[in-house]
Amino acid sequence: MITVLTGGTGGAKFVDGLRQVIAPEELTIIVNTGDDLLWWGLYVSPDIDSITYVLSGMLSKERGWGVKGDTFFCLQHMGQLGQPTWFHAGDRDLAVHILRSKLLAEGKTLSEVTTEIADKLGVKARILPMSNSRVETRVGTPLGELSFEEYFVQRWYQDPVESIRFAGAADAEPAPGVIDAIVNADVVLLAPSNPITSIGPILAVPGVREALHKTRGRIAAVSPIVAGEAVAGPAGILMASQGLPVSVAGVAQAYHDFLDMLIVDVRDTEAADELRKSGLRVQVAKTVMRTMEDKAELASAVLSAVRGQSAAAADHA
Ligand code: GDP
Repeated sequence: MITVLTGGTGGAKFVDGLRQVIAPEELTIIVNTGDDLLWWGLYVSPDIDSITYVLSGMLSKERGWGVKGDTFFCLQHMGQLGQPTWFHAGDRDLAVHILRSKLLAEGKTLSEVTTEIADKLGVKARILPMSNSRVETRVGTPLGELSFEEYFVQRWYQDPVESIRFAGAADAEPAPGVIDAIVNADVVLLAPSNPITSIGPILAVPGVREALHKTRGRIAAVSPIVAGEAVAGPAGILMASQGLPVSVAGVAQAYHDFLDMLIVDVRDTEAADELRKSGLRVQVAKTVMRTMEDKAELASAVLSAVRGQSAAAADHA
């Protein structure tokens, strides 16, 4: 079993590669829910949606979020009705938010709802929210605390970041299956997702970090930072705000207590040499994914690197 920890953008691209090279039944995806929000009274789980859409072949690759070919009639009309429109939910996307909200209101858990929607859309891999409890990423700025979507989507991550916290995390429980999927995995992969606000909330759920310490599976991460900056989005800004260097070394530092291998881009070959001196295994690959082939190649490279390492470790045992 391969278990992946992920957010919704870089993570969805990576999962798009994995689904091309391994059987979906082999794959368990643990997804960040710190970005979840109530939008027009509906429960939206942006990262779960992106992962569900990519695994069902519905994700808009141009936008990197939402359903491909979607229309935006409802959004347009809500604007005419004086409602906020900064979070761009398409019409087919909204159907998923409506169904999720309906099932949650009926008393189902987020895990149950996620499985039900994924099944309906033909997804064979297992998608697990990190927790069924509400954990909300809060970004402290001079304007006050913002939700992640307010900081990122509404305000284009322009505000100076003073603090980051995961409200509710201390009392949250991992969703059913999360700990088991980590402890019993052959391989645990951290997608090239934002280490602070995508992987960070998952690690903040009590028991998850301990499970990563305990697993017998090899743990590898793909760096979302290439040549000293994020491929997209605010990962660099957020890492710096937490005192981490914006580099592959910073990514290694964020995961230092459990990581076996870091996969870095070809542009970071020199930094990789430097990082190896710390004793960490570092694999260089082409990590910037533009085409389906790029994604499949990266997924294969990661799996063979991490499996090769497992075989080498077994030989030495
Ligand atoms: P979010 O939930 O939308 O924040 O999505 P993620 O956390 O999964 O993805 C955001 C991260 O993906 C950013 O830090 C980007 O640097 C990274 N990213 C996006 N595309 C790529 C890519 O093609 N290669 C790599 N290595 N990182 C990427």
